[in-house]
Amino acid sequence: MTQRKVRVRFAPSPTGPLHIGGVRTALYNYLFARKHGGDMVFRIEDTDSTRFVPGAEDYIIESFRWLGIEFDEGVGLGGDFGPYRQSERRDIYRQYVQQLLDAGKAYIAFDTPEELNAKRESVANFQYDAHTRMEMRNSLVLGDEETQRLIKAGENYVVRFKIEPGEEVIVNDLIRGDVHVMSDILDDKVLYKKADDLPTYHLANIVDDHLMQISHVIRGEEWLPSAPLHVLLYRAFGWEDTMPAFAHLPLLLKPDGKGKLSKRDGDRLGFPVFPLEWHDPKSGAVSAGYREQGYLPEAVINFLALLGWNPGTDQEILSMEELIQQFDLAKCSKSGAKFDYVKGQWFNREYILHKPDAELAPAFDKVLREAGIEAPMDRVEAVVGMMKMKKINFIHELWPLCDFFFLRPEYSADDKFTRKNWKEGTAGEMGELRNLLAQLPDFSIETQKAAIDAWATEGGKKPWNPWRVCLVGTGKGPDMYELAAFLGKDETLARMDAALQALG
Ligand code: GLU
Repeated sequence: MTQRKVRVRFAPSPTGPLHIGGVRTALYNYLFARKHGGDMVFRIEDTDSTRFVPGAEDYIIESFRWLGIEFDEGVGLGGDFGPYRQSERRDIYRQYVQQLLDAGKAYIAFDTPEELNAKRESVANFQYDAHTRMEMRNSLVLGDEETQRLIKAGENYVVRFKIEPGEEVIVNDLIRGDVHVMSDILDDKVLYKKADDLPTYHLANIVDDHLMQISHVIRGEEWLPSAPLHVLLYRAFGWEDTMPAFAHLPLLLKPDGKGKLSKRDGDRLGFPVFPLEWHDPKSGAVSAGYREQGYLPEAVINFLALLGWNPGTDQEILSMEELIQQFDLAKCSKSGAKFDYVKGQWFNREYILHKPDAELAPAFDKVLREAGIEAPMDRVEAVVGMMKMKKINFIHELWPLCDFFFLRPEYSADDKFTRKNWKEGTAGEMGELRNLLAQLPDFSIETQKAAIDAWATEGGKKPWNPWRVCLVGTGKGPDMYELAAFLGKDETLARMDAALQALG
């Protein structure tokens, strides 16, 4: 077979917010497409009108914008294979459903939901298939004439795929190898529903992958059970030669590895399972998002990329460019990946440490404004630079560590650090230091250091902790010279006066 152009697709159903597992699927498609110079298609699979949720499509688009996962064609972008929203492709599907009917590879079934339920109740493990279809109400039993009569009379029907028993189906999976299944275990899946004049997921998915010339289907493991049916559909249409290669990605597991990751795990342990905050349009419930919780998109990407794949080295911090270069489907694992959200926080910390202060400053500025503080951006940036190496996972964690940069402290003799360091004679020493600082020609770190070090050594003094009490009110904060230089002479002296007054 000649080498096909790599074309992959991410094809969500707009049934709610995009789950973090879906984000990982999209990411792997993206890395694969970029690595091979291929195209990445964004298709909306909205043929199940009962599960449609307003706002979900916009949410998905916004999520990828935030994360930096870019599509080449699809909904909102256009392209040569549109429309890319399945609800706008009815005419196309109708034609392919007809093709299967004409070829005798599908049939019309009139069984009502009540009839099907009655059957399920009376027959254990009932399956609509080669063994049972002749006991049902469908065109195979009723014949053409009666079928046409019922259709004309307006009776509701579906089209079912006529799966022949005894056929071996091989799903060629790039991660799992060949998966063999006998067609006997499959049921005659519904491909089309007259009631909404729409195909089901299976038919639409196959027809679109074919027409959109998709070369690789990379998706979550939960779709593996559908794959044999999909292979049979390609066969029924005579499209085996251009059938895409499959890669079913490992499941994301709960942090303890016991079972599939769910939203409840996130709620229980305090981590989001959605990229952005989601406001449910029906219940009004709000679900946490990575963006709103203060994750950097680069950190989320890096974290997700390593859930089910690794480059085969111990390199953990990988930029999008490095991920693209190193990504390899063959190195994806078959077994589920534990969702180690603590590791996700660690990634965020690493990315905060390595990001330029100027790029982090706006996020901290937002936190400051929420605390009622307005400060020039260069001062915000300076504080971020001084404090980000304190073990913070998120920028908002800086606020309790940094409030004294912007607010004059409240002094209390009961503060543990103060009690320990403010003793007999401390006030006198701080008074001396205050006068020394007042006389300095400038307040740079170097000038302060030269003067104070000389004074402290000469008098055998250890002014650092009491001085910290004066400027911070307790035992936290950066290097004292750095802090004093940031506050400036006036504020430094004012705080020392205030401390002397409060603590005596
Ligand atoms: N619409 C399916 C979903 O919601 C697509 C599955 C597939 O990629 O084939 O994930």
